[in-house]
Amino acid sequence: MTALVTGGCGFIGGAIVRRLVQQGVSVINLDKLTYAATPEALGHLPIDQYRLVVGDICDRALLDRIFENHRPEVVIHAAAETHVDRSIDGPADFMESNVNGTFTMLEAARAHWAGRKGDFRFLHISTDEVYGSLDALAPPFTEASQYAPNSPYAASKAAADHLVRAWGETYGLPVLTTNCSNNYGPWQYPEKLIPLMILNGIEGRELPVYGNGRNIRDWLHVDDHADAVCMVLRHGSIGRTYNIGGNSELENISVVRSICDRLDERLPGGGGRRRLIRHVADRAGHDARYAIDAGLIRKELGWMPSRSFERGLANTVDWYIENSDWWKQIRANSYDGHRLGSIKPAARPPDEHRAAV
Ligand code: NAD
Repeated sequence: MTALVTGGCGFIGGAIVRRLVQQGVSVINLDKLTYAATPEALGHLPIDQYRLVVGDICDRALLDRIFENHRPEVVIHAAAETHVDRSIDGPADFMESNVNGTFTMLEAARAHWAGRKGDFRFLHISTDEVYGSLDALAPPFTEASQYAPNSPYAASKAAADHLVRAWGETYGLPVLTTNCSNNYGPWQYPEKLIPLMILNGIEGRELPVYGNGRNIRDWLHVDDHADAVCMVLRHGSIGRTYNIGGNSELENISVVRSICDRLDERLPGGGGRRRLIRHVADRAGHDARYAIDAGLIRKELGWMPSRSFERGLANTVDWYIENSDWWKQIRANSYDGHRLGSIKPAARPPDEHRAAV
């Protein structure tokens, strides 16, 4: 099987590419290499099974060439702008990549699918943030929950989800959508909560926590997410949406304290890292709580997370301790308190995985 993965140099796309290659799938990865891309996370993959095309999902002519030359049986669409803070500071890129990019992908996939015989699937990766915010005692989001996005990021993903649904309903394109909770694990760009806290903690910097830190997120290890996506890709019912979650609801402050404690265990000294925690002005429109009911994917496909949050977090902290060469380079480029500011992509060496199209 040949899969076209978009955004495969990102945190989740990378985990999906590694999983697919492990399963014997040939992968074409289309990625624009924004600041968030880490192609080095795929550097070890065999050339006969993995190729990178550097380009934009908004470039229809490029998409047509990729479909024509590689004839993928499946598309996993993970490319997106993903950082909520950045979407508040500058929403335009989010509308372009997440909305227009998804539209362009759907149109190119539709043209390809119309001309091919045999099976084809288009799996769109989305987020639980499209459902908005939950009260403390409200039941978790199900696939039937109403869309109520609050940030520009969430609104752009919600728009993309609606486009995917419409292309399925109107044109019969064989689409699937997954809406997942917060991911954590290796190779996550260090602007997101968990890696940012780990790296600040390692370096003895302040640990900035939005507001009172009582916002609740459901956490899932990225490799469990990748397994779920591969399962939906092969066995999911066309046209359906699947919620994916870790059944691991935690307040942000409690996640940060756990990171401090694991770092203290691994790198003792300095009087304990919990003292570095600082509460900073809350994010605009900060959602109080996300929680996912992953009952459908469990019942229909038998998927469940394979790791506890405690074990997954400890392994993640250890991974960042052991992979400082990677993140030190990123941190050296630009660092601005709890935000990383606009980081220009570093010049990258030529990549032997690059494919001409
Ligand atoms: P990321 O920011 O780590 O990576 C995004 C990747 O997409 C980067 O490699 C970037 O270069 C690429 N990209 C961005 N715009 C592009 C464009 N126009 N053309 C081609 N490539 C482009 O993102 P992530 O955290 O891995 O998220 C991947 C997907 O999963 C997104 O769709 C996101 O909405 C969704 N998601 C993320 C989470 C999470 O916790 N991170 C949770 C649920 C769903």
